[in-house]
Amino acid sequence: MGNVEIYGVLVLAIFAGWLLGKLGNRSKKQSDDGLGSIFHDYFVGLNYLLNDEPDEAIDTFIKALEINSETIETHLALGALLRRRGKVDKAIKVHQTLLARPGLEASLADAARIQLAQDYIAGGLLDRAERLLKELMQENSVAKWDALELLITIYQTEKEWESAVACTQELLSNARYKKDSDWNARAAHYCCEIAEQFIDKEQNDKARDSIKRAFGFTRNSVRAAVLLAKIEQQLGNFKAANREYQRIMQQNPAFVPQILKAMRKSFAAIDKLPDFEHSLSDHVSSQFDPAALKMLAQLITESHGSEAAIRFLRMKIASEPSVAAATQLLKLEAGLRGETQATDLERIHQMLENMLKKRAGYQCNQCGYESKNLYWLCPSCHNWDSIESNYKNGI
Ligand SMILES: [Zn+2]
Repeated sequence: MGNVEIYGVLVLAIFAGWLLGKLGNRSKKQSDDGLGSIFHDYFVGLNYLLNDEPDEAIDTFIKALEINSETIETHLALGALLRRRGKVDKAIKVHQTLLARPGLEASLADAARIQLAQDYIAGGLLDRAERLLKELMQENSVAKWDALELLITIYQTEKEWESAVACTQELLSNARYKKDSDWNARAAHYCCEIAEQFIDKEQNDKARDSIKRAFGFTRNSVRAAVLLAKIEQQLGNFKAANREYQRIMQQNPAFVPQILKAMRKSFAAIDKLPDFEHSLSDHVSSQFDPAALKMLAQLITESHGSEAAIRFLRMKIASEPSVAAATQLLKLEAGLRGETQATDLERIHQMLENMLKKRAGYQCNQCGYESKNLYWLCPSCHNWDSIESNYKNGI
């Protein structure tokens, strides 16, 4: 929607609100002068709008729209619209003017404070938003839960993970949220963030405790499982690490490319590469996973020779043709040919390998953001767990 259309809608909304206000106040016998002045402001605003000067138009409408019990909803809608259009200062002004009105009904005042907190967040005034939301929480108003949701967003932005966990825990104490898988998953991510900080400081016991907390929110947290495997591996508990890796492979096959290298090292550390090969083989037979396929071809080459790997890849291509498998096959074939042919095949292999590397491997299912790396939190739309592997079968 273009600017003119959006403000056209705004004019209609405000005029409707104003009209409702007038109808509601009919019994108050407004003076003709008052009515004339509002009409005057309204038409001045319309004139600004038609001249494409929306800022002046908005100011005129804010001035013209009398606050009374019938127009409060219109003010709230106007404020939210202004915020969404990026006019945060004006949204703040609308909500502050509303709140300054004496005798404002408590539920409407709370709604206006929630809107004002959202304005502050949009404007980057996080401290002010936090203060306002904490006030709402302390008053134990019905808006408490909305306030909590916004507070969590602030703590997430500021990476104050302990506060984020504490608030999410409080939110989950409400029956309305308790079973909500998104909120539980978010809480688990906050615990994982804390665990990662402990891992960086080599405080593995504390990291383990945080992972335990993460699993308390959701046993399916793949991130917590990946971190746990990493810690066990670092501590030399390879059996425990391998168990965790195998569990991830079965329950969250999409995450296997993230753990392949570490998993191989962990299995190799206790001479269990054949077990790893077996697990990979199962994984590759049910999932299209170019990285796992490449590693499996390498493992077969190392353990049974390149001819065995070539046989495996030929079978794979026959049942499920893919550029990824063909690329590995070319590389192995090059190794068995004479110099000239080998150089040709090696060149083609390199070309395909480069082409595959250039692809973004992940994409956000909410906003379409593409990336070569996996992010737990989408850097673009800030949704958790929305980034997925975008490998297409056959490529
Ligand atoms: Zn996104």
